[in-house]
Amino acid sequence: MNMAYDSHQGAPSASRAASPAAAVAASMNARLREASPEEVLRAALESFPGRVALVSSFGAESAVLLHMLAAIDPNAPVLFLDTGHLFAQTLDYRKGLAARLGLTDVRDLRPAFQDLAVHDPRADLWKTNTDLCCAIRKVQPLDRALLPDFDAWITGRKRFHGGSRANLPVVEAGAEGKIKFNPLANWSKEQIDAYMVEHDLPPHPLVEFGYPSVGCWPCTKPVEAGEVSDIRAGRWQGSEKTECGIHTPRSVLAAGEQDVGGDI
Ligand code: SF4
Repeated sequence: MNMAYDSHQGAPSASRAASPAAAVAASMNARLREASPEEVLRAALESFPGRVALVSSFGAESAVLLHMLAAIDPNAPVLFLDTGHLFAQTLDYRKGLAARLGLTDVRDLRPAFQDLAVHDPRADLWKTNTDLCCAIRKVQPLDRALLPDFDAWITGRKRFHGGSRANLPVVEAGAEGKIKFNPLANWSKEQIDAYMVEHDLPPHPLVEFGYPSVGCWPCTKPVEAGEVSDIRAGRWQGSEKTECGIHTPRSVLAAGEQDVGGDI
């Protein structure tokens, strides 16, 4: 697919201004909204050469998009948010799946030491302030990686997850001002499952124990069989929270606190 946009020629450099990003996203979405996931991935890689990364949780459904990416460009950057509170099974799965798919550039993003020292010295912030915990363990590490090096990123979100994802476009302007591709937005749970079987992809080891969505261990619970229609029912159970914050406006930390720390 020959896209009209080239990040090095000026048009889609979302970091320069939010409105050009929105215009570029709208144009690309009109072009790609019915495209296959592989076509969307190719368009992202061709439109932002060297300036687009896939962000993956190596969770319950992540193998599908990672497999597609590996078939197109196994050297493309993949960003993995290692919050420090992940299940050991997720860390093992991340290593094993990356090796099996031949992905050569999976980057582990970790919270800044200074942020942990200031805001979460006992590693129990999740008990009292999940938004701030997600901000220092997910949002800021991701932003620190995206801001200097990338103009666009790719997510594994799907409309069938419901909630704020029910109307997800294939291409959008992200809250952080980058272009965001959602190649699997149109796909159903049945298509995901069929792709896993067709390509003999290993499931996340917690899926068989009732985890249809896998995040950090303090904030992810197995779901009852009757809840499986809501894939994310086990995330932040018992609270209003449904998203970690990487897809929503950056408002948790005051401006003066945004730059605490620096290393990833
Ligand atoms: Fe903290 Fe829970 Fe967010 Fe993980 S999901 S960063 S443990 S609040």
